[in-house]
Amino acid sequence: MSRLDGKVALITGGAGGIGKVTAKTFLKEGAKVVLVDLSEQALQEAKAELDAHGDVEIVQADVSKEDDVKNYVKKTVDRFGTIDIFFNNAGIEGKVAPLVEQKLEDFDQVMSVNVRGVFLGLQHVLPIMTKQGHGSVINTSSVAGLNGSPNVSPYITSKHAVVGLTKAAAVEVANANVRVNSIHPSPVNTRMMRSLEAGFSPENAEAAQAELEKSIPLGRYGESSDIAQLVLFLASDESTFITGSQYRIDGGMAAL
Ligand code: NAD
Repeated sequence: MSRLDGKVALITGGAGGIGKVTAKTFLKEGAKVVLVDLSEQALQEAKAELDAHGDVEIVQADVSKEDDVKNYVKKTVDRFGTIDIFFNNAGIEGKVAPLVEQKLEDFDQVMSVNVRGVFLGLQHVLPIMTKQGHGSVINTSSVAGLNGSPNVSPYITSKHAVVGLTKAAAVEVANANVRVNSIHPSPVNTRMMRSLEAGFSPENAEAAQAELEKSIPLGRYGESSDIAQLVLFLASDESTFITGSQYRIDGGMAAL
């Protein structure tokens, strides 16, 4: 018996670093998986990589657009009958600049994907879960959703908002046995960190990585596979008494 046998999992940002590795982890544990992302080509490539591990469907969507969200939910239910697990994970980092130099349109774009996208996903997935009387939602926040750090104020703001959405949703759906938690990774080795390193230190991005790694007691970035194991736990029936919680996964950063 695998940990997610027969479950249907929907993953946004599913063609990205953390999303794709989590999809593979879910498939290996017996789930059927639907990947949602912006680029049809990236989705096709992810599907080609994952097909050998189980049932994978892809849906192109912009998570900040309500019609796209309705469509990815409908396609998932049409294909697999329901949604048991929702990894509400798509996100963007925004521009690296001091708060007073951030452009309003850049702030709005980050909020639109990271907050509106998470909100819309909850709005359209939770009714399916409450109706069936079970479900697990994992919202991807960040250590940037629990603490401040310089030069990424839109991102910090958006990831703090994910905590609010997680708590608000968790208390509304608990009586239907639906759980909603958030995860809070420190830097993880994906495209997003390459982009942020280049923003923090345009002349020497590798130096930015070395500097950041010094602030992590375990001395390294997280890998997507580290994050996937936490998401798997929260998705599975091993965490049935956990809801409304914030899970740090940060190599010890918070202990400093
Ligand atoms: P990533 O860039 O590899 O993946 C993010 C994915 O989201 C991409 O495939 C991208 O195309 C997709 N996406 C972006 N905007 C979208 C939209 N409007 N609609 C649909 N899909 C969209 O980065 P990642 O590291 O895998 O990030 C996944 C999540 O983890 C994000 O929410 C990110 O903020 C969070 N996170 C990342 C780190 C890190 O260091 N990498 C740390 C903490 C939290």
